[in-house]
Amino acid sequence: MPLSPLELLPAEILQEIFLLSPNLDLPLASPHIASKLSTPHCYHAVCNHFLTSNLNDRPRQTRLQSRIFALRWMTWSFFQSHVTKTYARAGCLCGESGCAVPIWPPDFTNPLAMSANMGHLPQLSYIKCRIPAKLLHGPWTADKVQFLRFLVSTTSMTVDWADRSIRQLTLQGKKDAILSRNYDAVDLFNHNRRLGKPPTMEMVRFAVIEGGCDRTIVYDIMATARMWGYRYWEDSALDEWVQKAVEEGNPKGPWLRLKLKELRMMNGYMGVYTGDYTRDGDVLDVRHHRGSRIQYVRPRIWGHKFMNRNSSTYNRNQLRTPLLSDLIRVA
Ligand SMILES: [Zn+2]
Repeated sequence: MPLSPLELLPAEILQEIFLLSPNLDLPLASPHIASKLSTPHCYHAVCNHFLTSNLNDRPRQTRLQSRIFALRWMTWSFFQSHVTKTYARAGCLCGESGCAVPIWPPDFTNPLAMSANMGHLPQLSYIKCRIPAKLLHGPWTADKVQFLRFLVSTTSMTVDWADRSIRQLTLQGKKDAILSRNYDAVDLFNHNRRLGKPPTMEMVRFAVIEGGCDRTIVYDIMATARMWGYRYWEDSALDEWVQKAVEEGNPKGPWLRLKLKELRMMNGYMGVYTGDYTRDGDVLDVRHHRGSRIQYVRPRIWGHKFMNRNSSTYNRNQLRTPLLSDLIRVA
């Protein structure tokens, strides 16, 4: 089939036409046109047009923004380059020059640290569309977790909860994170309400029985559920699991029994420092305590790096119990 006059245009001319009026349907018209428009220059222009300017038609802009984030070329590395390129001249993510406290440079790996210093909004917060399905399920690569974390921290993007398949995908994504013991991804789901409801006993049970009771993950799920007001901690399936683990000599058994006991007390909270973590490779990573984000993550709490119960030199009194004020910064 012969090519149409539009397909025969040189790439430079076709790109100029596209940039004058970016229409996301144009690349869909033909593979020849799509390949001529598949350049970083065109991608940046599309993002500038639909993500940073006001088109005075919110529903249409939201629809098109959702399409852009779902496109294959919208990767974490491209988005970082787009943000850097777009706001470097102003020197602030708000897009204005001369800010007293500029939001710059963008902290792509830890946007929460950046947001703590924000006295004003980044322009990205006006992006209001759907989080693409590709960022809501496993496998949870570092790139995917960072991209999702940055988007929920700086934009107004949300999950399309009205879409049943997206709802299921997101729930499965959280379960994937638990099963693969990816604490970064679990942390994101636990502490961002745009990614779902707070966890309950059902998720604790899943993390213990299906997920093998990774203590960092189980602790975070239980602490988050408690923080959001979950109070009913009786569960026969968990008690059975604990009993079996204790009988098998699995240290996670006594640990979970202690944590459940703490939670089952009147107005009970889990202790950060209670529990036995003396076995090799046994790590508890605590990033949140009663709703506050802990600034300095201790690699091990009461771990063997600091003491060894079998050693004759072990002396608990030599250890200084870290004060929560050492560890906690209210985010
Ligand atoms: Zn600014």
